[in-house]
Amino acid sequence: MDERNSREEALVIKNGKISFVGPSAEAMEHRDQSTEIIELNGRTAMPGFIDAHVHFVKLGVNMLGINLKTPDIKSINDIKKKVKEQVLATRNGKWIRGWGYDHSKLAENRHPTRRDLDEVSPEKPVVLTRTCGHIAVANSKALELAGISEEVNDPPGGKFGRENNKLNGVLYEAAQDRILEASDYSFEEYKEGVRVAANELLKNGITSVHDEGIRGRIGTQALLEACLFEDLPIRVYLSAASILGSKLGDYFLETGLITGFGNSKIRIGAYKVMIDGSSSGPTCATREPYSSDPENTGILYYTQEELNALVEKAYHSKFQISAHCVGDKAIEMMLNALEKVYEKYPSKKNQDIRPRIEHCAICPPDLVSKIKKLHAVPIVQPAWFNEFGDGYLRNYGKERVENMFPMNSFIKNKIIVAMSTDSPVTSYDPFMNLYEAITRVSSSCQSCGQNETIGLDEALRAYTFGGAYASFQENELGSLEEGKFADVIVLSRNIMQMQASEIKDTKVDFTIFGGMTVYQRKD
Ligand SMILES: [Zn+2]
Repeated sequence: MDERNSREEALVIKNGKISFVGPSAEAMEHRDQSTEIIELNGRTAMPGFIDAHVHFVKLGVNMLGINLKTPDIKSINDIKKKVKEQVLATRNGKWIRGWGYDHSKLAENRHPTRRDLDEVSPEKPVVLTRTCGHIAVANSKALELAGISEEVNDPPGGKFGRENNKLNGVLYEAAQDRILEASDYSFEEYKEGVRVAANELLKNGITSVHDEGIRGRIGTQALLEACLFEDLPIRVYLSAASILGSKLGDYFLETGLITGFGNSKIRIGAYKVMIDGSSSGPTCATREPYSSDPENTGILYYTQEELNALVEKAYHSKFQISAHCVGDKAIEMMLNALEKVYEKYPSKKNQDIRPRIEHCAICPPDLVSKIKKLHAVPIVQPAWFNEFGDGYLRNYGKERVENMFPMNSFIKNKIIVAMSTDSPVTSYDPFMNLYEAITRVSSSCQSCGQNETIGLDEALRAYTFGGAYASFQENELGSLEEGKFADVIVLSRNIMQMQASEIKDTKVDFTIFGGMTVYQRKD
């Protein structure tokens, strides 16, 4: 995954770093009594994956709740059954939390409502989060505990679902805030979640994550403690994000900390703002109305002026800037804001500030050119085509979908791009993500634009070097070169010799983190 994408026979690890890369015979000369040898026998060793956009802490605590993403969830009744089981297993006074349902995949093709949930849990508070994290549904007890009554007004950037002028429990975007606050996890739960998530990611060969948004202090502290004092074997680039109404990002700016502060395990990342909604809701902000709804162009969190001020503030505070932009309208607004800063402070343009465009989903050619001009770094999730591609085609139409996550255009234009999954929005499985980067097909096998497929070597580079670049860590991570951290994985087969369809079945045999084997496949 180095500049030339070169391949070598062997590597040597010493004191947590790579000390030699080259022919096996030469590598053997570095051996002493304590050397452990892993024979590849035709398998591929590569740098650990860097998932450049994941909600690591959130993923962890989700894993402690009800998983509504499993294939047996086909209807609202199936959801009710799972909630009921959990109600019976939960002490009074405790919240019941679930995540991952997708209303467009339910037989009823609608969100569950407070009434559905009240039927199975009249006493205990329940909150279920949609797979995108931008929409949730709460039962009556949960609304009551969060102090949400019929008189409530829609907050900026959010909406309370209503039927016949009565709250139906569905909470869009910022309307989730009060429920999320009321149902927050304990410190111990956060810690447990972080450990569970790290184990899962390591099994999948992911050795670094960019955490793109924790809601509050307790989750942040749990993560810091695990990384700093408990040797959590994963590297975290922690974005200072104000997501879902939290002010966390702004508090970070006030402290005087800057991007890059930290150590080799955990580092402060970018200041992140949310510009629009989600791709699958759909709530993202588009230039033209949705193909499925001529009245709808999505949700915007800021006006252009407000966004310009935020971007400028981040630069003043010596923070890398990152913005969640899914729709073309949101991407355009972010690029406008960057342009304004460059105009005002011409020196910024030549500095290596690597503004991140998170998702960068609906991105037609004019925006690709502007990204190139402004040296921005798209952080993309091709895996979404698998789970949400059919919905995209319905909601945005073929032409816009063909311009989604245009990895080929980015690479042709020499724009450095980083791959990620945004898990728990979709699975963190890197092999599904690689498969989608090279094929772009939906789960029902519809094409999402063959012109933007890329080669496997390009996808692997975006999943390793691209992520390292997006966090200013390309001198330490992202390729197997002398002097870099020995975050190395061994795949079950030679991935470069596989058919596209076989890539999804690749397994990780070993995960080595800083020279230590932290996972070894048993089956
Ligand atoms: Zn995200």
